[in-house]
Amino acid sequence: MSRPIVATINQQALKNNLSIVRQMISSARIWAVVKANAYGHGIKRIWKSLCQADGFALLSIHEALLLRDSGWQKPILLLEGFFHPNDITILAQYNLTTVVHSQWQIQALAKAKLLAPLDIYLKMNCGMNRLGFQPDDIHSVWQQLKEIKNVGTLTLMAHFANAEYTTGVTKPMQKIYQVLRKLNCQMSLANSAAILWHPQTHCNWVRPGIILYGSCPKRDGNQSIMSNNGFEPVMTLNSEIIAIQEIAFGSTVGYNNSYRANCKQRIGIVACGYADGYPRHAPSGTPVKILEHITKTIGTVSMDMMAIDLTMCPQAYIGSKVELWGKNVKIDDVASASQTVGYELMCALSPRVPVQLK
Ligand SMILES: *Cc1c(COP(=O)(O)O)cnc(C)c1O
Repeated sequence: MSRPIVATINQQALKNNLSIVRQMISSARIWAVVKANAYGHGIKRIWKSLCQADGFALLSIHEALLLRDSGWQKPILLLEGFFHPNDITILAQYNLTTVVHSQWQIQALAKAKLLAPLDIYLKMNCGMNRLGFQPDDIHSVWQQLKEIKNVGTLTLMAHFANAEYTTGVTKPMQKIYQVLRKLNCQMSLANSAAILWHPQTHCNWVRPGIILYGSCPKRDGNQSIMSNNGFEPVMTLNSEIIAIQEIAFGSTVGYNNSYRANCKQRIGIVACGYADGYPRHAPSGTPVKILEHITKTIGTVSMDMMAIDLTMCPQAYIGSKVELWGKNVKIDDVASASQTVGYELMCALSPRVPVQLK
């Protein structure tokens, strides 16, 4: 028998989450964001569950070709565009839509010898200050691109830094409306947070990522918007108790004595550690499910193991099932206890964890 840890991917939940997004956006089209190996879920494994999307958005040509080779013929968007001029011929060959965010990419496009023009997403920097052209330059860059014969359709794209906040898109939207005074164009603006909280950003194409996987884009705070809308967690991480300890008052558990028992206590050792992708920063008290009970972690998470409190679950024994995250223990709760976001935990699922489809 192998080590009992296993991640389960719920394909029906993916389909369901996509159809909820579809209902929220009325007529906009959907780029399902599957970068970072589909947020750790495995792009190869899950893309078919998202095939009702209008296109897939990702970062690497490698992932794009994987989709093309698997038979996906509809649009694919490279969210950061091409990283080297040599890549442009591959984009044309495989009909990949590309973001253009910098002047060097425009020069490279103008010079390339292509059999067919490329569809372009022109990226505007509306305050994130990572990629894109300044709002004041958009009009002239747009004209410049229109002159290039390798350029097919043009779409304006922006990305929000703070869409999870009530007033988080106000300033960026002002900049976008300013650009629109001179330009009549197709647009793609909304990530998951903007889809949930800012319908005015939905426009022509939305780009949901995290909500497709059933986790909330908003850190901490009230995440009931997810369940209220019917979104379901896609990934469940389960393992089992592999040992039990009865510890005396004053005993410590695990490395660094970070936990000390203040009474006689029964604890379970779970086959899951930070080398599986469980956050080492999860403090004592992080929620975890044992049989039908929600209990808490104890002490510092080790590489391959962690300890949990069994006080309220005397019937738990070796082989009892433990849910680290999933339907009952929200990945967002484990994340916020660990000072991070659900995104990071999903993406960090270790390749050593076996994955099964449900
Ligand atoms: C990752 C990404 C998204 C999706 O973001 P979520 O918060 O997961 O919805 C959308 N647009 C761009 C440009 C991205 O890089």
